[in-house]
Amino acid sequence: MKNVIKIKRHPFGKNYLAINLFGFIFTLRNLDSVELNHELIHSAQQRELLYLPFFIWYGIEWLMLWFKYHDWTTAYYHIRFEQEAYRHQNDLNYLQTRKKYKFK
Ligand SMILES: [Zn+2]
Repeated sequence: MKNVIKIKRHPFGKNYLAINLFGFIFTLRNLDSVELNHELIHSAQQRELLYLPFFIWYGIEWLMLWFKYHDWTTAYYHIRFEQEAYRHQNDLNYLQTRKKYKFK
């Protein structure tokens, strides 16, 4: 498997299954192909933003969306990186054809 590490507890709580940090996928259980594809889309986003800027951008956007929706989960689903990953996670060939910076 591609940098997948099992964890017992998610840092963001029970609503979350996996987290991708610097291309390492930490997950509570084995991921199915769609879930893994979702995380690999995040790996691609992180790589093209050279990792650290991705997390800064992600965090700031999540916070700004919280000010808009006053709900962390709703805000999370509106983060541009999550929108791209959820929109394309069912297409298992997506990463082969994806254009760079597609999250914009
Ligand atoms: Zn995600």
